[in-house]
Amino acid sequence: MLKVVKVRLYPDIQQQQLLAQAFGSCRWLWNYCLNLMNQTYKETGKGLSGYEVKKIIPELKKEYEWLSQTYSQCLQQVCLNLGVAFNNFFEKRAQYPSFKSKHRKQSIQYPQNIKVNETTLTVPKIGNIKAIIHRPIEGKIKTVTISKNCSNQYFAAILFDDGKDKLEQKIEGSAIGVDVGLTHFAVTSNGSKFDNPRFLTKHEKNLKQKQQQLSRKQKGSNNRNKARIKVARVHRKITNCREDFLHKLSRRIVNENQVIVTENLNIKGMIKNPCLAKAIAQVGWGMFCTMLKYKAENEGKTYQEVDRFFPSSKTCHVCLNQVGANGHSPLPLDIRHWTCEKCHTKHDRDINAAINIRDEGLRILRLRSVQVFNLSAAEGLTSGTGDKACRPDVSRSNRGRKKSTTELSVGQEAYCVREASL
Ligand SMILES: [Zn+2]
Repeated sequence: MLKVVKVRLYPDIQQQQLLAQAFGSCRWLWNYCLNLMNQTYKETGKGLSGYEVKKIIPELKKEYEWLSQTYSQCLQQVCLNLGVAFNNFFEKRAQYPSFKSKHRKQSIQYPQNIKVNETTLTVPKIGNIKAIIHRPIEGKIKTVTISKNCSNQYFAAILFDDGKDKLEQKIEGSAIGVDVGLTHFAVTSNGSKFDNPRFLTKHEKNLKQKQQQLSRKQKGSNNRNKARIKVARVHRKITNCREDFLHKLSRRIVNENQVIVTENLNIKGMIKNPCLAKAIAQVGWGMFCTMLKYKAENEGKTYQEVDRFFPSSKTCHVCLNQVGANGHSPLPLDIRHWTCEKCHTKHDRDINAAINIRDEGLRILRLRSVQVFNLSAAEGLTSGTGDKACRPDVSRSNRGRKKSTTELSVGQEAYCVREASL
């Protein structure tokens, strides 16, 4: 299994200079190659691959002698990474590759020949850089990316293969549903509510002050640079606080449960709402879900997302009756508690939603395991009892359920297609 460990580096003055030079050369090469690719496309209508631009490095080295001072494999890696960036763009995973600026985060990548020692990292052409190796790196090192952020901190992200197989994901054990929101950061199906810490709001005044100081400094002056670092430091503080909170909460949820179910949120769409954009951008739901996912997968636990159109808030988790099932009105946001008309259970809005998310996730997982079983037995004509396996005591009417959740789009297409072809 591939793993990444990010360690802090403390290069001395000379090493900082060498790194700055390497960052600069790689950035220049990236921008040069990107420009070349753009122009070639304009003139011939054909793009260049990463391997093709890699071949021009020797010629460039003759023309620009300072390029030779940077480790050659880092330069080659720039071209390959640019090729990957274009692939990601063409396959709609990313935006069009952009030019790199010297005012932002800097990085270089080493595909091999880096040694990790107890307290140092041995880097070609730069030497032994002091490092804090805070966890063991056991296995074959794939790549090492050295970076510098805007507040002048250095890091190395070490990607390595620990040689172990990926653990099988089991679903037996305690399951939890997590509903994320703005008032409470997360509400779980076992009734815990975690407050939204709002780190940006807490540091907003400080940030505003530092940004005002920056804007008053003369452009290009030394004082402006100092003020810039102060702004970067506040941003760094906010990021660190948020990451710390998200890591601790996701770790706790993963440690206590075997199956974790969340909603797949359309954060890009939600952020377009100008009233909520700032609140949603600072809360970090996306990062939280990513952390839950990889932490669960590393330990053989299951992470499942349910469709965002699944009516988790307005369905009663006891009798599965839906509020206003005839009209398709959502439950108004200001209603925090409600009573089911059919079974008269009193619900806390968020906890009820979290329980519904958990049950829906379990239903999807059971349905999938039934389908996989049926297919492997080569008699997958009926998809089985997946719908009822989760809550056998409750009869579920399909009337109020939207098609998107009964068909289960989440990772199920492959099974459905095979089933149809049988
Ligand atoms: Zn009910």
